[in-house]
Amino acid sequence: MALPLTSSTRLADHRDAFVELRCGACAHQREVRADALARMLGWETPLMARLERFRCSRCGARRVEIRLGYVRRSRG
Ligand SMILES: [Zn+2]
Repeated sequence: MALPLTSSTRLADHRDAFVELRCGACAHQREVRADALARMLGWETPLMARLERFRCSRCGARRVEIRLGYVRRSRG
């Protein structure tokens, strides 16, 4: 399951999520845990406001799209 981001989405609202970063230029994709990202950006920072800081590690483009995902947990 992945959620689209709104301008007010903060990591603090999605502590269990991982963040999916996808390059709009070369489609390179990586996933970062919310707590790892929070160490760089802070829990309260609106993610959209920081989008321009992200850069594709493969091609260097600044067209990175962000989505939130949740790790499937075993039920029981
Ligand atoms: Zn790229």
